[in-house]
Amino acid sequence: MNEYDVLIVGAGPAGSRVAYRLAEVGYRVGVFEKYQQIGNKLCCTGIIGRECAELFNVESSCVLREAKSAKLFAPSGEFIRVSKDEAQAYIVDRIAFDQSMAIKAQNASAEYFLGSKVENISISNDAVLIDVVHDGDTARYRGKVVVVASGFGSQIPSELGLGQIKNYVLGAQCEVETKGIDEVEVYFSHQIAPGFFAWLVPITDGRARVGLGAKEKPGEYLKKLLSQLDSEGKIVDSNVTIQYGGIPLKPLSRTYGDRVVVVGDAAGQAKPTTGGGIYFGLLCADFASDVLHQSLNTNNFSRRRLARYEKLWKAKLGRELRTEYFARRLYNRLSDKRIISIFNVVRDNNIHESLLTSSYRSFDWHGELVLDGLKRLGPWRDLFGKYLPAYLMSSLKGKS
Ligand SMILES: Cc1cc2nc3c(=O)[nH]c(=O)nc-3n(C[C@H](O)[C@H](O)[C@H](O)COP(=O)(O)OP(=O)(O)OC[C@H]3O[C@@H](n4cnc5c(N)ncnc54)[C@H](O)[C@@H]3O)c2cc1C
Repeated sequence: MNEYDVLIVGAGPAGSRVAYRLAEVGYRVGVFEKYQQIGNKLCCTGIIGRECAELFNVESSCVLREAKSAKLFAPSGEFIRVSKDEAQAYIVDRIAFDQSMAIKAQNASAEYFLGSKVENISISNDAVLIDVVHDGDTARYRGKVVVVASGFGSQIPSELGLGQIKNYVLGAQCEVETKGIDEVEVYFSHQIAPGFFAWLVPITDGRARVGLGAKEKPGEYLKKLLSQLDSEGKIVDSNVTIQYGGIPLKPLSRTYGDRVVVVGDAAGQAKPTTGGGIYFGLLCADFASDVLHQSLNTNNFSRRRLARYEKLWKAKLGRELRTEYFARRLYNRLSDKRIISIFNVVRDNNIHESLLTSSYRSFDWHGELVLDGLKRLGPWRDLFGKYLPAYLMSSLKGKS
């Protein structure tokens, strides 16, 4: 029998971060990744904020480009430009990034099993057993605890009785050749991306990632956007390969159990505003490793003990995720006509400029910024119609 202290399902950023943290302090860690290549089939734009890059020492060799500015497009086609002198975010090569995280964990002695799909997990009082399929053969591994970091859409949490991500959008993205585009563009319109938004993110000279989220049929909406960008002369060819992924909007109802924790997209730890999940997944991976370190020290892997993981990540992210989810729902209720009116008010009153200098401005934390923005829109609160909750309507009253 192959014995480990910690078994980790999935070699994405969340899984590799836990692997690194626990291998570094001497535990025997096994990481199982279903694809032969780490970062295979990734559908991700790779934008991370400066705070994330600095906190997690993202290697400069993984960074394709810095982002200092963006054009935010209203459904009318008009745009607001936001810009800062210093880099606000970095666009990383996701394959290189995921691989660099895995190499760091391997250097700390974590063992990686590639092309190894975890098919079955059984948890008993004294151990976790996983069945892993590699090249058609099944092998069994035993561990003290299992970390489920298997990403969006994984059935493992539900098979372990931890529920399912029920709130999500579907994403589609491709890489295109561009003409004369050198800053990020974001498109707000339910015609273009119903229930989310669309983006064009330059990665290297003459190439960009174009993508969107939508409640359904994201590929069809992306094809429409590509032909629009083609006819506007922004991209060279709209006949490209599209990749698909999912974006959780709300976390799992429970992210721990006896001898198990769930981390990253599998736990729904992504931003409901932008869909960015790398940073929050890494933060939660650190909470998970801290709690597991204590459990391994004391040989206590009970559900009660591991509940501390959820307590910690919710203390850091709970309010943020709830406020962002509120912002997502509010936006989704607004018609394109209302979005245009709000854009006009923001532009005509330079609200975007004042938000850029607000103490709440942060690429990674949007909750307070959303509330600050709504307060600044107080005098025009009627623009939101009946969609602003009564308590917020009244708190905005008299702000003019
Ligand atoms: C269109 C789109 C654009 C995005 N853009 C951004 C962005 O710009 N910035 C950002 O921060 N986030 C972005 N995200 C989200 C980001 O991709 C995820 O939040 C991030 O990848 C989550 O990391 P993770 O480690 O939790 O899961 P993943 O990166 O999904 O890794 C999970 C791993 O588990 C493996 N796995 C699954 N099941 C098994 C199994 N049974 N056995 C073995 N291995 C298994 C998978 O193969 C995968 O390698 C985007 C998402 C989409 C869909």
